[in-house]
Amino acid sequence: MASESEEYEEEYAYSSEEDGYPVDDEEVSMEWESDNPNAAPMELKVPAAVATKSGIRMSAAEGLRPEMNRRLKDVQEVLNVSQAASNVLLREHNWSKEDLLEAYMSNSDKIMKAAGIYARCGHQVAPKKMSTCEICYDEVSDMLAMPCGHAFCYECWNDFCVNAINDGPACVKTTCPQAGCPEVVTEEEMTKALGDASSELKKFQTYQLRSFVESNPLTRWCPGRGCERVACALSASAMESEGNVAHCDTCGISFCLVCGEEPHAPASCKNLAMWNKNAAMNPKRQTGFWRILRVVRNALVALKRIKDAIT
Ligand SMILES: [Zn+2]
Ligand SMILES: [Zn+2]
Ligand SMILES: [Zn+2]
Ligand SMILES: [Zn+2]
Repeated sequence: MASESEEYEEEYAYSSEEDGYPVDDEEVSMEWESDNPNAAPMELKVPAAVATKSGIRMSAAEGLRPEMNRRLKDVQEVLNVSQAASNVLLREHNWSKEDLLEAYMSNSDKIMKAAGIYARCGHQVAPKKMSTCEICYDEVSDMLAMPCGHAFCYECWNDFCVNAINDGPACVKTTCPQAGCPEVVTEEEMTKALGDASSELKKFQTYQLRSFVESNPLTRWCPGRGCERVACALSASAMESEGNVAHCDTCGISFCLVCGEEPHAPASCKNLAMWNKNAAMNPKRQTGFWRILRVVRNALVALKRIKDAIT
């Protein structure tokens, strides 16, 4: 039986030309040097307006857009790809520049194919000279083509994009309207198909921002009901120094930035997850866990007070 990757190679109907995708090793290693190559994004720049003395800050999701754009631009420049391609690559690597670079340097073609941007990144296929839209079979003179060469009329493109966006956040992973083609539809095509000012395009951009917030290990949506604030740790160490606990400045709840649960120190997120799994069949035990946890936490606070009083 063919392996998954072999099947993929067969299905991936791109030209096999490998030229035209310059990667400057030296420049890359300089730009991407980091003490810890496995580390997720090491720093998060949060607008000063929402800054407090704490290592974990609350912000509106929109406040994180400049940080997202900064990473997009970095990757765009270092890998010499379009902004659309940079967006897909980062998203596929949980918005970690370090992870992306490591994977990219070991096999750039594999990474581009897996992300669905192989044609977009230097392997563009010229659209066939045809005047019939493959979706509606109308004769049209003006069509919008994907980098993979598949072209459709604007009306079909518009319907396709609106439907994808109405399906929800997964629209950021929409692939070419041509059945079986893995090339990803990006903001570039969405903008051409929907128009700059369309509400659907805004929705698409918001979903892209959501993906940035959700896959970033230093950010988490406030789990408060209907709350739209985002907790952001300024760095992994700042997160640790705060005991991973965020306090929402809008709805007032506190939560663990790592797992999103109620603060659970001294138990680890892993211990809590295991406990929750075991206790799912027995709600009484779950209540018991939180009771024990509060007793332990209160005891620790009392001990600290005594220690502070003595010294
Ligand atoms: Zn059409
Ligand atoms: Zn295609
Ligand atoms: Zn909140
Ligand atoms: Zn946790």
